[in-house]
Amino acid sequence: TATADALPLTDGFHLAVDALRLNDVQVIYGVVGIPVTDLARVAQASGIRYIGFRHESDAGHAAAAAGFLTKRPGICLTVSAPGFLNGLVALAEATTNCFPMVQISGSSERHIVDLKQGDYEELDQLAAAKPFAKAAYRVDRVEDIGRGVARAIRTAVSGRPGGVYLDLPAAVLGEVIDAATGAASLWRVVDPAPRQLPAPEAVDRAIELLAAAERPLVVLGKGAAYAQADQRTREFIETTGLPFLPMSMAKGLLPDDHPQSAAAARSLALRRADVVMLVGARLNWLLGHGEPPHWNPDARFIQVDIEPTELDSNQPIAAPLVGDIGSVMEVLTERSKPGQVKVASPWRQELAERSAHNAAKMADHLKADPHPMRFYGALRAIRDVLHEHPRAYVVNEGANALDFARNVIDMQLPRHRLDSGTWGVMGVGMGYAIAAAVESGDPVVAVEGDSAFGFGGMELETICRYQLPVVVIILNNGGVYRGDGANTASADPSPTTLMLHAHHDRLIEAFGGKGYRATTPAQLATALTDALASGRPALIDCVIDPTAGTESGHLADLNPRGVTAAA
Ligand code: ADP
Repeated sequence: TATADALPLTDGFHLAVDALRLNDVQVIYGVVGIPVTDLARVAQASGIRYIGFRHESDAGHAAAAAGFLTKRPGICLTVSAPGFLNGLVALAEATTNCFPMVQISGSSERHIVDLKQGDYEELDQLAAAKPFAKAAYRVDRVEDIGRGVARAIRTAVSGRPGGVYLDLPAAVLGEVIDAATGAASLWRVVDPAPRQLPAPEAVDRAIELLAAAERPLVVLGKGAAYAQADQRTREFIETTGLPFLPMSMAKGLLPDDHPQSAAAARSLALRRADVVMLVGARLNWLLGHGEPPHWNPDARFIQVDIEPTELDSNQPIAAPLVGDIGSVMEVLTERSKPGQVKVASPWRQELAERSAHNAAKMADHLKADPHPMRFYGALRAIRDVLHEHPRAYVVNEGANALDFARNVIDMQLPRHRLDSGTWGVMGVGMGYAIAAAVESGDPVVAVEGDSAFGFGGMELETICRYQLPVVVIILNNGGVYRGDGANTASADPSPTTLMLHAHHDRLIEAFGGKGYRATTPAQLATALTDALASGRPALIDCVIDPTAGTESGHLADLNPRGVTAAA
């Protein structure tokens, strides 16, 4: 009829964008192409910020970092098949890191994919995503887009956060329905990550264990940083006086120079602690699975985690505290009697003495000024400049670049350090740096190994295109691990060799950014000061001795050796 013809219409693109906006999504990280190009255009026109990348993994890492920083799912947009698969790497890492993220991908026509008729970029993406994501959903009808978005958001942030895959086939994106029916099909998720309180008796059990400890220790993980319960966590630690050890991405939750930090006495603290309270930290490989000789074989564990199945994954958990960290910290503070949990002075003294000893050793390392520059010299310069810029975000990856920088660069503020995470991967740095700059507007300094940087190097163009305040520092020793690998069999470079003396600074100049080259700590300090003052994209190539660094960094134990080692 004539009136029906006049009804305003909408389509899948608009409904997807409206559903995201209704759920407060402000930024989409992605790479456009068939069939999602119009989705990005419609999103941008609606006021959502669209950040376009050069590779989907980088866009996905950015979405994951946005999830970690904001406690709301970061959104990544990818095209079908290969673009989807590239993004899936980041979705899998986000899930492993417990970062909330939603990867929205266009996909081919279902009927062609299901009969394997051979479509453009044909792939059964839903099936491919399932093993790598917290959940995977597909929308098959335009009127289900709102439900799909709501379900993806709810799943990504509630309970243990993780990566969710949302499949939007091309036909659904292009489907047209009347606007009123479309609008009525959308909804806003109420309280996407509800509080989860621990039972009082579980809290009392933990307090009693802590109160009876001779050498208690709190380990803060990136789950504690993510929880954004900074004040409550700090209050509990300060009123009890408990020594704490931050995992790398929990650095700054309490400042690294806090008198109760046991970071400088890490090995002693793990080896000697008799009661350990894990707060948003898993007893995985990064903590030696809680096993001797790294740990006291008689240690008893309290674990605060939102995921009940995490408990007992490695060691018996004497006092499980299942709930969100903010609520658990609040109830712990409420239910402990004044002075009930305290730390005996011999333990405090033992930690303080070892900390002072190790700090002196570190100061010696940092004092040395060899030429060519080595990691410690470069990091001393970076640390000193960053002291003047406490609001700067630090992104850090690379085998040696990570191991050294983690211990040298102190953090003052929570959630200001992003690094290789639970898998210990390389290639996340550019995406993380871009997200930190986009989400915060604050300066970002990415401290990168030359090998790690290479995975996402083309994102320098993205950084320049959006004029982000990102300074990329490349600790350039010319190799994977180090630059002095030898090949005695042929003229080819060794497997670990990269281009020695490569001028990465010239890469950013191609896109209008500022390139610097530093061969001494003093030059590095000047360049970093200048770059941060400008607030503009910059890259500093630091020439590091190719013999500096160790293979696999601190993970040499994980590198299988085989018969070559016996020779
Ligand atoms: P790290 O690598 O820093 O030791 P992990 O990633 O291993 O940290 O551990 C983080 C833990 O925090 C995960 O087990 C996750 O379930 C938990 N977690 C994440 N968010 C919360 C939250 N809001 N409340 C409680 N636990 C959380």
